[in-house]
Amino acid sequence: MRKFWLMAMAAMALTAGAQEVICHRGYWDTEGSAQNSIRSLVKADSIGAWGSEFDVWMTADGVLVVNHDASYQGVTIETAKWKQLKDMRLKNGEPLPTLDQMLECGKHLTTRLIVEMKPHKNKEQEKETARKIVKMVKDKGLEDRVEYITFSYAGMKNLKEMAPHGTPVYYLNGELSPSQIAEIDMAGIDYSIKVMREHPQWIDEAHSLGMKVNVWTVNSDRDMEWCINYGVDFITTNAPERLQQKLAP
Ligand code: MG
Repeated sequence: MRKFWLMAMAAMALTAGAQEVICHRGYWDTEGSAQNSIRSLVKADSIGAWGSEFDVWMTADGVLVVNHDASYQGVTIETAKWKQLKDMRLKNGEPLPTLDQMLECGKHLTTRLIVEMKPHKNKEQEKETARKIVKMVKDKGLEDRVEYITFSYAGMKNLKEMAPHGTPVYYLNGELSPSQIAEIDMAGIDYSIKVMREHPQWIDEAHSLGMKVNVWTVNSDRDMEWCINYGVDFITTNAPERLQQKLAP
């Protein structure tokens, strides 16, 4: 019975269209790489990942910095000046990257750039962060290669308003149902595997509303298979090559 059910779900997944791999903080769990590094973006591209995700903060003096946490080596990015950060290095020896450097590198690649704008404590600064990100993406000619994701409700709305019409913007926080997301005209949901396992019906609900579903951070075989069988559109993972093997026909 269980086998039949899994086969039925796999058939549904097939009819739902291609399922794509997104590298979480780039492809970092591999030789010479590091989370949110330029190298991790190049590595994600080199294995043919559909997309590569990275996190963006803005310093108090307006420099867009790529990093996951609010602080790096004890310095809080949102309240720091760039000169306090510019000489810092990542674990693989690269300088702490700016968004400018990341996008410049991305120009020469084909993987899609999944830009996560971090929620800033200062909401005016966050709005300015959204404005600067969208402008930089435009100036570099990357508007059709970028998608935006954020935990910030206000940030999501700002990105949607500022980016060109049709630019995919996804919400990460997990408390809104697909119909609530559809009401505010977002591209879909981008929720944690924990949230999605609690609300598996949200996948069909999102699809029936013409929206996409992304799930993060999907690392175990069990979670990967769950997402594949349920027809999740984009699977964000720290183990992109293992996921690619599972998705291979
Ligand atoms: Mg992120």
